[in-house]
Amino acid sequence: MENIVFWSYLFVVFLFLGSFLNVLALRTLEGTSVWNPRYSHCPSCATRLTGRDLVPILSWLVLRGRCRTCQHPISWLYPLGEMATAVLLTFVVVHGGWNPETGAVVVLFTILITVTLTDLRAQLIPNRITFPAMALLLLVRLFLHPEPVWVYLLGFLVGGGLLTLLAMVPNGMGGGDVKLFAVIGLGVGWKLVLFALFFSCVWGTVIGLPLKWTGRLQARQAIPFAPFILLGTLTAWAFGQPVWNVYRTLFL
Ligand SMILES: [Zn+2]
Repeated sequence: MENIVFWSYLFVVFLFLGSFLNVLALRTLEGTSVWNPRYSHCPSCATRLTGRDLVPILSWLVLRGRCRTCQHPISWLYPLGEMATAVLLTFVVVHGGWNPETGAVVVLFTILITVTLTDLRAQLIPNRITFPAMALLLLVRLFLHPEPVWVYLLGFLVGGGLLTLLAMVPNGMGGGDVKLFAVIGLGVGWKLVLFALFFSCVWGTVIGLPLKWTGRLQARQAIPFAPFILLGTLTAWAFGQPVWNVYRTLFL
């Protein structure tokens, strides 16, 4: 029973974090400060949003996705970002356990969720997020590294370097994706970043191809890849090592 209370509490904390990441993503794209102005406004009628407009998920549902004052539609990306943050990060803590390393992984996935939101909104993974993310994870990994520190530094080089090669292929990945994989390499090390790349492509194929077949995406339309990178990295982190162990016993 105590556990249910604890996990519910954590879930709600992550819902509010998701709400903050929505603001962070939006303001980074706008090029405005995250802290100033402190209050959010309706982009259409400029009415200042108050507490009851800012409850994660619930406000959007109660308002049926429209501004209270002017009925201007509010993007479904807001509740989606909040829900995705809460579900993914709660899973990370359940799977990783209550320890410092889980904290480092939560930082990584918080970054991945933020760039997924900017990528979905504007097909952009901003340097204003990836560069500070590199500095932050480098700092984390210098002090906290379950494996030798070079595993993570090599991960940075492998993630960034390999993707640079892939970016040269026509229709390959964009520059933002490359920097993002460097960040992921710093976070999970060189072996798991390769798994993350593999599983990202798997998710991209599993979800992207049906979208193309059903005509929801045009043949040449660029699709934001960050959502697949997020799912791929999560798969690699949670299940990469067991998959690797099975592979090694079978083939090596
Ligand atoms: Zn409004």
